[in-house]
Amino acid sequence: MQPTIAELEDRVAALPPDVRAAAERIFAVSSTVGRLDPPAEMREWITKQFGSIDAVTAQKIVRVTNLVMLEGALFNDLRARRPVEVKGADELRETIERSRNDPFCHPETGTPADTFGRIRGKHGLTASNVAKYDGYHGVLVFDEHDPLVPMDAETIHDRLLTARRWALAANEQDPSAKYYFLIWNCLWRAGGSIVHGHMQMTVTRGMHYPRVEMLRRRSLEYDEQYGRDYFDDLWLVHDGLGLGHERDGARVFASLTPVKESEVVILGRPGEDDTSLAAAIAGVISAYRRRGVVSYNLALLVPPLIADGNDWRRFPPHARLVDRGDPANKTSDIGGMELYAASVVAADPFLLAEALASGEN
Ligand SMILES: [Zn+2]
Repeated sequence: MQPTIAELEDRVAALPPDVRAAAERIFAVSSTVGRLDPPAEMREWITKQFGSIDAVTAQKIVRVTNLVMLEGALFNDLRARRPVEVKGADELRETIERSRNDPFCHPETGTPADTFGRIRGKHGLTASNVAKYDGYHGVLVFDEHDPLVPMDAETIHDRLLTARRWALAANEQDPSAKYYFLIWNCLWRAGGSIVHGHMQMTVTRGMHYPRVEMLRRRSLEYDEQYGRDYFDDLWLVHDGLGLGHERDGARVFASLTPVKESEVVILGRPGEDDTSLAAAIAGVISAYRRRGVVSYNLALLVPPLIADGNDWRRFPPHARLVDRGDPANKTSDIGGMELYAASVVAADPFLLAEALASGEN
């Protein structure tokens, strides 16, 4: 039988002792049942919507907290069992086609260059972002307008390499700008203001962005407290539960504390750069697409380009990807819970893991 997140407590309890110990170091797992009493007038609608009255009158909610990072998710089994609907596919296709010949379709004249010039890759060209997040803020404009054109590992590798070359050029111009960060906001639902496929890169000064720096600090504290590598333990737990697979040397897993729907974490080998994640990223994106996901965020978390006097030795290059939902949906996927408390999640990590591992790429 297909495992589900509803059985997470039992699955953790059944892990081999060393894996279970890691699970208990990192995660707190609990479940609760939410109950309600529907009026007779609602029964027909409830049955149609959720399959049965019983499914709604007692709803199991699994709460997972990462005790190291204090990140958490609330999984509702009822929401997880609802079928994934893909709506608005025609409208999306039309929007992508209608926006052809935008400035990114002719980046040499449609976008500014950085003061250190442009970096050209086989599958894209860099530009300087017009309205910047940070002192160095560039764009890697894809050679393809359509952001949903399938991308193989070679194309992703080239784009990561071109983006990294851009970061190194910025760092050469200003050696104090050493903290490289990359994001890929695919479509407006994920915060992308331009439809044309693109990634964005920043290189910041002083210290890394706070969430990245917090992860570095917490992982070092974990080692001090337990004498164990945090990232190795994180992988051990996810892999032990059947949530992980390896691709081209990278560890890929469906997160137990996703920031939002269907979050995947890819951990590379410490000391390698992010281009080593290309095949794994391509695999996740193709699994997303098979599941109907068209709008997603990707972020790269990597050590600084040059030494900054801090200990980054344990910090593997890694990528996080998250599904941002149906572009036709006017309700935001991020509400008060996600901003201030914990993420409310419908997608079951066990189902996601199966889709990820079965992918051909
Ligand atoms: Zn375009």
